[in-house]
Amino acid sequence: MTKKLGGLIIALAVFVGGLMWFVNSRGHQTHQQTGKLRVVTTNSILEDMVQQVGGPDVKVYSIVKRGTDPHEYEPQTEDVRAATDADVVFHNGLNLETGGNGWFKKLMKTANKKDNQEVFAASAQVKPLYLTGKGQENETDPHAWLDLQNGIKYVQTITKVLKDKEPRRAAAIQERSDAYVKKLTALDNEAKHKFADVPEKQRLLVTSEGAFKYFSKAYGIRPAFIWEINTEAQGTPAQMKAVLQKIRQSDVKSLFVESSVSPKSMEKVAKETGLPIYAKIYTDSLAKRGKPGDTYYSMLKWNIDHIHDGMLTK
Ligand SMILES: [Zn+2]
Repeated sequence: MTKKLGGLIIALAVFVGGLMWFVNSRGHQTHQQTGKLRVVTTNSILEDMVQQVGGPDVKVYSIVKRGTDPHEYEPQTEDVRAATDADVVFHNGLNLETGGNGWFKKLMKTANKKDNQEVFAASAQVKPLYLTGKGQENETDPHAWLDLQNGIKYVQTITKVLKDKEPRRAAAIQERSDAYVKKLTALDNEAKHKFADVPEKQRLLVTSEGAFKYFSKAYGIRPAFIWEINTEAQGTPAQMKAVLQKIRQSDVKSLFVESSVSPKSMEKVAKETGLPIYAKIYTDSLAKRGKPGDTYYSMLKWNIDHIHDGMLTK
C-alpha cells in the first residue's frame, strides 16, 4: 500500500515537473509568476525606452527586430504569442505601424488587445508634423522620436502607463524615468547648439527616407530625401531628379544612409554627385546590441555627432 502510494507520488511529481518545464519552455509565464510586467513594443526604440524606465520591473519583447523596417512588417507566430500574453503593448502611432499594410491593427485584433486598455501610442502627447507629398498632406509623419523633446514625451507617456499598470513599483519607475529624462534633456541642449558652426549652405541633411522633419526643425538644419516615407516607391527617376536638384542648389559636403533601408539609391546619388556617403545613421531602428547606437540615447548621440561632422567634411 505504502509502496503503491510512494510510486503514485513520484509519478505525480514527474508529471507536474514536466508540465512546468513545458509551460516555461513556451515562455508562457504570467505576470504573477515572474513579478514583471510583460510589455510588447512594435520596435527596438520603444523597447529601449520601456527598458530604461521599467528596469527590472518589466520584461520587454520587441516585435520588429533591430535593423528591420517597422513601416511594413509581417508578424511571426512568436509575435502573435507575445502580443496575446502581453499586459501592455506600446506602438509609435502617427502612421508608423498602421501605415502601409497596416500590420499592427491586424495583430492587435488577433491578440484581442484594446486601445487605451492594453494598447498605447507612445506618441500620444506629440504635436505631429505632416507629409508634404501630393495627396498626403493629411497623413502624419511618424518619425517624431528623432526630436529629443518628443522622445521625452514618449518617455513620459510610457512612465504613466507603467505606473498605472504596476502601482506597487510606481516610485521606482518614476525615479528611473526622471533620471532618464534628465540625460535626454542634456543631449537635446547639446544638439540645439551643435550646428551653429556649420555654414548655412552646407546645413542640408541628405538621406534616403525623409525621416528627419522633426529632427531638422528641432536642430536648425534642412532635410532632403529621395523618397518621403518607406511605404512609398523608392528611388524612382522623378525622386532622383528632385534630390539631385536640391543637392546642386546647396553646398552640401556629404550624404547619409539609414541603417534600416537598402543603400542602393543613395549609392546612385553618390555616383551622380561625386559626394561621399559619410556615415550610416539610425532612424527607424537601433543598432545591434553592443554597437554604438544600440540605445535611443546613443542612437541620437551618434546621429547628431556624425551629421554634424559630415556637414563640415572637406
Ligand atoms: Zn521611417
